[in-house]
Amino acid sequence: MSKNIFSELENLGFNNIKNLEIYKNSSGDKIMESNEPKKNTLSPLYNKEIICPVCNNTFQAKAVKSSFYRMLKKDSDFFIRYSSVNPYFYDVWVCNNCGYAALKRDFEKIRDFQKSLVKEKIQCLWHGKSYPDVYNVDIAIERYKLALLNYIIIDAKSSKKAMTCLKIAWMYRLKENIENELLFLKEALNGFNDAYYNEDFPIYGMNKFTTMYLIGELNRRIGKEDTALIWFGNVITSNLASSKIKDLARDQKDIIKEKQTSENNPNPIKENPDKIPTKKKGFLSKLFNRK
Ligand SMILES: [Zn+2]
Repeated sequence: MSKNIFSELENLGFNNIKNLEIYKNSSGDKIMESNEPKKNTLSPLYNKEIICPVCNNTFQAKAVKSSFYRMLKKDSDFFIRYSSVNPYFYDVWVCNNCGYAALKRDFEKIRDFQKSLVKEKIQCLWHGKSYPDVYNVDIAIERYKLALLNYIIIDAKSSKKAMTCLKIAWMYRLKENIENELLFLKEALNGFNDAYYNEDFPIYGMNKFTTMYLIGELNRRIGKEDTALIWFGNVITSNLASSKIKDLARDQKDIIKEKQTSENNPNPIKENPDKIPTKKKGFLSKLFNRK
């Protein structure tokens, strides 16, 4: 990757990481949830006491109470849009003592050799940072990138890096930063492609067919429509895929077909507005105008 995707992390101590490749080999652990939340009824957020598995430091991680989630809609690549407090902003836990960071569901699953790598390559550079009580999209991007950097350093599985890249892409979508959204969608796709062939399912809760659909949809979003059609076709024709995921694949296949028809027709057929929500339409038109 030529662009320095970690430029936001320079003020945290990581100022010489320009040519880091996200994907190399894959190895790692299965995911697991941990720790019951402490109750607090006054705020949508609560603090969870976490013990860092790398340095044994105890710290408070912020989390959103599930009763405060207000889901507006789901984008076709599974990004959920929320109306009020955004749980994605609190998805990464960071140990301020050593700089270890990971998606919260991965945080406690780290192997001994990986702990050593964090101590050798992250802790010695880490400056520490005090975050405000409430996080915003820019803080979320910084924290996701810190998690991604840790995953690269500890040689985590491709799926972990891919999911982190996908979430970074979603944060840039919130900011309507198309260029960076596409950059991280492409990196997410690279990782999910690798995970599809080399890792066991489920991958972050996705079975094989959901992963196939997502790979198709990421291809579609970055403009690789022919590849997207192959993945969607494989979902649609599978005997084992659920009708729900087949329907999603059919919808996205139809969007490509309608677009291709309109491009070959001097009087374009209008797309069914029900198929593409307004937000995505804007994204698609910007994407395709770039060609
Ligand atoms: Zn630590």
